[in-house]
Amino acid sequence: MKPVASLVRYSQSPESLRDAVSLCEGFKELNKNDRVLIKPNLVTWDDSFKIAPFGVFTTTRLVEDMVILLKDHGCSDIAVGEGSVEMSRGIGTMHTFRGLGYVRMAKQYGLKLIDFNKSRFERITLQNGLTLKIAKEALQREFLINFPVLKTHAQSKVSLGLKNLKGCLNTSSRKLCHNGDPGLEYCFPFVADYAKPSLTITDGIYVLERGAFHFGNAYRKDIIVASRDILGSDLVAAKTIGFDPPDITHFIEYARRHENSLDLRDYEIRGERLEDHITRLKWDWGWTADNTGPSIFEKFGLTGTAVPKYDETLCSGCSPFANMVNILVLSAFKGHALPRIEILNGKKMQARPGYEKTILIGNCIIKANRTNQNIKEPVNVRGCPPPAEYVITALRESGLDINESAYYGYLTQQGAKYDNREGYDLNLYQ
Ligand code: SF4
Repeated sequence: MKPVASLVRYSQSPESLRDAVSLCEGFKELNKNDRVLIKPNLVTWDDSFKIAPFGVFTTTRLVEDMVILLKDHGCSDIAVGEGSVEMSRGIGTMHTFRGLGYVRMAKQYGLKLIDFNKSRFERITLQNGLTLKIAKEALQREFLINFPVLKTHAQSKVSLGLKNLKGCLNTSSRKLCHNGDPGLEYCFPFVADYAKPSLTITDGIYVLERGAFHFGNAYRKDIIVASRDILGSDLVAAKTIGFDPPDITHFIEYARRHENSLDLRDYEIRGERLEDHITRLKWDWGWTADNTGPSIFEKFGLTGTAVPKYDETLCSGCSPFANMVNILVLSAFKGHALPRIEILNGKKMQARPGYEKTILIGNCIIKANRTNQNIKEPVNVRGCPPPAEYVITALRESGLDINESAYYGYLTQQGAKYDNREGYDLNLYQ
């Protein structure tokens, strides 16, 4: 028998989700006494600059719909677990829960809220011997509902069910996944092998194109994809945003290990016709041919300072600096060549010759370039990740006349860009 995935239009709560679950027989193996864990995608929280939630977070409304369905099924032990990235010290998962209505929901329905960052962890060993630590709760509950959002990702092209489970790892394991060898997309699909989600629901009420945290463009799509088969769910969800299975390395890795098919014809899709819901989204950003900066540098005629393109080794802690540095370097450009500075991040970039200074953001890249003979004058921005102020100071002290408010203004504008726009409903996140 073929694995089944359902594809339904979201039109009302909780009926649309009920249809999606019922079409894929999502509760077939759910016992009412099972301890249920819902793992939404609640990436991070920023107290200073609001993150517009559309396509970034799993919609609270859909998670609440799931809770209603579980209660209807007779389940009483329901938990929601996540390990949000701490963008600033102490602002973590509980802030995200509070900001997105989970504390209200926990009171109303008697849910447990679990911060994976504070969990006890168990070691899991990958095929190459690498070990990662995964939150015990993700392993111990009988019925795990994996609840990603339909979005693209700057490193793995898509971020769906397989990627969402990376949030069950402790922080150092997540960083380890970005080590470059054996590669991000080799590592994170292993979490599914151990967490064994019983059901994956992809929330496609909104989709996010080329986004993360504060950035990206969200569109209303109003679909839900559900399956008891995590790969089946991801294949269908990815196709709705224009990605074919062979495009995605982590699909290939997971399918190879499990001897699963990557051919959509080997999956039964119930509900809507897949062909009626395909909209191709972009995932990547253009960079100059000589890798000196995003295409916008070329468009503005910016020369001198170089920001090579981030790679898959840049982990969430340092990733906000990629955009921040680009915007700040642009703010320093007044029509004349900027100082010859190269700015590196991640874990493996190597400084190139011809620059007066090399700014190295984060402990990893400092270490990776310790013996690099191309560096005339290193400017080390220490930390894992370093505080944003250190990055700003390094840019300024290296001779770039940056305008900090250009970046903070941009963040503010991103947080407000959907305000009063039709179809962008904040009530879905409360
Ligand atoms: S220094 Fe940055 S890239 Fe390296 S592990 Fe820390 S947060 Fe990740």
